[in-house]
Amino acid sequence: MMKAIPEPVEALNKQYWRRCAEEKLCFQRCRGCGVWRHIPRAMCARCASMEWEWVQSTGRGKIFSWTVTHAPLHPLFAAEVPYALVLVELEEGVRMISGLRHCKLANLRLELPVEVVFERVAEDLAMPFFQPSV
Ligand SMILES: [Zn+2]
Repeated sequence: MMKAIPEPVEALNKQYWRRCAEEKLCFQRCRGCGVWRHIPRAMCARCASMEWEWVQSTGRGKIFSWTVTHAPLHPLFAAEVPYALVLVELEEGVRMISGLRHCKLANLRLELPVEVVFERVAEDLAMPFFQPSV
């Protein structure tokens, strides 16, 4: 039996971002126990299965937590402050950090229903953000 050795995971990240480029928010789902996961990785943290599949998320979830940035950490973000970074819990149980769109900061609240909205940032790349559900 071979010892476990590191496997490059860049390919998994590429698979994730390629789906985002098609404006599809997808996560890995374990074929062993069915649990969804994010960020992309080779092994299930619950059952240690290496078998998984990409499945498209509904893109709907709720605000689990957030923080508001008032001091930009990089000059390129200076024009955007203050802005919120949100931790969204998707319907599938996956949590992901993202940016908030089309929502005043004063309207942010725990469990606010949100849905994914993609913004094209390059010809071959779109990034997922979240906005209040309509
Ligand atoms: Zn599993």
